[in-house]
Amino acid sequence: MKYLGIDPQKIKIGVFNFTCCEGCALALANKEETLVDFLDLLDVVTFREISSDRGEDYDIALVEGSISRDDEIERIKKIRAQAKVLVALGTCACYGGVNNLKNQFKIEEVVEIAYGKDKVETSKVRPLSDVVKVDLEIPGCPVSKAEVEKIVVDIVNQSEINFPEYPVCVECRRNMNTCVFDLGMICLGPITQAGCDAVCPNGGVGCLGCRGPAEDANYESFREILEENGFTMQEALERINFYNALPGMVIDES
Ligand code: SF4
Ligand code: SF4
Ligand code: SF4
Repeated sequence: MKYLGIDPQKIKIGVFNFTCCEGCALALANKEETLVDFLDLLDVVTFREISSDRGEDYDIALVEGSISRDDEIERIKKIRAQAKVLVALGTCACYGGVNNLKNQFKIEEVVEIAYGKDKVETSKVRPLSDVVKVDLEIPGCPVSKAEVEKIVVDIVNQSEINFPEYPVCVECRRNMNTCVFDLGMICLGPITQAGCDAVCPNGGVGCLGCRGPAEDANYESFREILEENGFTMQEALERINFYNALPGMVIDES
């Protein structure tokens, strides 16, 4: 209810960036047809992609990116102390994401190859939940803006928050795509949580599992699909390692 044009119920929100490409924040800022309505619900105190304002007084923190430096640990703890609700936004924040590739090598070698003799502070990549309590994780690389908008509205309205329980294959079949396995490619759609409208298979490429595991993902059945299509477990694991977003994926390699 507004009084003299002021909405006392407006929730204060901050958007924060850690180690990442900032693609999730850009995804929120980009969809102009819904941006004004979305922002009208909220009092945005910090969101550097859309404003130079920097407020410290926020209720909900939307945090993208993973943790890969000591100063980021201190910063995320401060954000956690301020926020009533801390939301991990995107695969980097939820799982470490593509940054996890760095963890597969010796950190000193990675630094030397990337930066030569320059001194660069960097450490093992971690998801936000390794460092602070996270109230909600919204996966995706990038996140679906429609999904984030709906969830923020649900938080404001104190409504139940639901994610699709079914795998990407359901959306893919609904879109009447040709399965990429039939085109000779590997795909993690059978074990990955839906919600992206199967955007990768829509474009003729296999899912990389960026949204994390589907509810009750059937790994045994996935193993059979791989074998039927001539792929090895190693090939599946290499694909999973890209985002490292399927931590529940246990494959019996015997
Ligand atoms: S999840 Fe993807 S789009 Fe989002 S910040 Fe990380 S790399 Fe960028
Ligand atoms: S392309 Fe991937 S997501 Fe689509 S049906 Fe085949 S396995 Fe499932
Ligand atoms: S198809 Fe897979 S990799 Fe592509 S956006 Fe959806 S969940 Fe992520």
